[in-house]
Amino acid sequence: MLTNKDLQARREAAVPPGVATMLPIFAAKAKNAEIWDVEGKRYIDFAGGIAVINTGHNHPKIMVAVKEQLDCFSHTCFQITPYASYIELAEKLNDLVPGDTPKQTLFLSTGAEAVENAIKIARSHTGRSGVIAFSGGFHGRTMMGMALTGKVVPYKVGFGPFPGEVFHVPFPNATCGVSEADSLKAVDDLFASEIEPSRVAAMIIEPVQGEGGFNIASPAFLKALRALCDRHGILLIVDEIQTGFARTGKMFATDYAGIEPDMMTLAKSLAGGFPLSAVTGKAEIMQSAKPGGLGGTYAGSPLGCAAALAVLEVIEEEQLNTRSMALGALIVDHLTQMKQDPALDCIGEIRNLGAMVAVELVRENDMTQAAPELAKALVQEVAKDGLILLSCGVRGNVIRFLSPLTIPDAQVVEGMTIIHTALKRL
Ligand code: PLP
Repeated sequence: MLTNKDLQARREAAVPPGVATMLPIFAAKAKNAEIWDVEGKRYIDFAGGIAVINTGHNHPKIMVAVKEQLDCFSHTCFQITPYASYIELAEKLNDLVPGDTPKQTLFLSTGAEAVENAIKIARSHTGRSGVIAFSGGFHGRTMMGMALTGKVVPYKVGFGPFPGEVFHVPFPNATCGVSEADSLKAVDDLFASEIEPSRVAAMIIEPVQGEGGFNIASPAFLKALRALCDRHGILLIVDEIQTGFARTGKMFATDYAGIEPDMMTLAKSLAGGFPLSAVTGKAEIMQSAKPGGLGGTYAGSPLGCAAALAVLEVIEEEQLNTRSMALGALIVDHLTQMKQDPALDCIGEIRNLGAMVAVELVRENDMTQAAPELAKALVQEVAKDGLILLSCGVRGNVIRFLSPLTIPDAQVVEGMTIIHTALKRL
């Protein structure tokens, strides 16, 4: 029988350490919000494959759609012999992405590729090269993805030089003392000192920073960015790779702001576990690249497209936006109870947008004293009790909740109790 220990030893010999794993737990099977490892131990999944499994592991409808596609063909390459599901999915996303301007969609395989392609399109459409991104943001591990990513350790160490003309401004973050006005002023300062706005092609922002710690950009801030971009002819790219597909209680977090992005990058829960990503943008902007300039061998794989079409149906049929709000409230309620527990002094700020929930772990109830080592220890400790949990944040002290939206309440309570008990032990 395979064991976690043996696999871990083989992994250390066969796989470079740059591909980090938080836990030596090797998956054998998963169903909805539960995972079983190779030794048969069961875990509740609060990580959702890092925001990929909004619709639950192995959702029957999605599995049937993929199996039906497999019975027809697994790959032809959309650039050689295209297929209908790519077009059908593009049409659906063109309708779903906010705003009335006609849209077009291009598919790729990973989130980072979606980001790369959005920047390529922005540069070719505007003829400008500059890109503005936000500190604490994460946009992937390709060269441009890393250039745009704000956090240096561990994502960028030793990999430079990165593509040029990328500028970072602070993301509004109350816990770090950065207001929205500070962020907007930083953009003005950038224009005054480093790059004229007429040379900036695009600004890219996560409406809720994922890896950066679930920091939420308010609707007013996103509106202000939209206005700023409009003033200077800069394209606004909203990276919804982690926030999309009902995670925040709306199909996209941008829906809260009521703005229309010029392009949106999508991946993760788009195809419920099949590698598929997308750039959806205003049609006139998406036209700019020459035929052959975009795409890729596996881009928009038929299996991914079949899965994604089923995902969109599941989100609607199971009313996952509504479920997301209830799930978020349930988790926040439990975290609030932990904050009131006199035996704990480590619960800092609790924040959420729908089921995108985060809690800062701190020392002695002091928000300024981040406790990254406690977050790390908690992830290891709860795994012993059968819970898969994720940390994140620029200070490394944030615990984030990304369970499938389809998780039963009883499993949420079970998971939250594991966390509460573990924190008391640590
Ligand atoms: N953008 C955001 C907001 C992300 O959260 C991620 C991944 O975590 C990416 C881009 C990169 O996606 P991928 O890992 O699929 O390349």
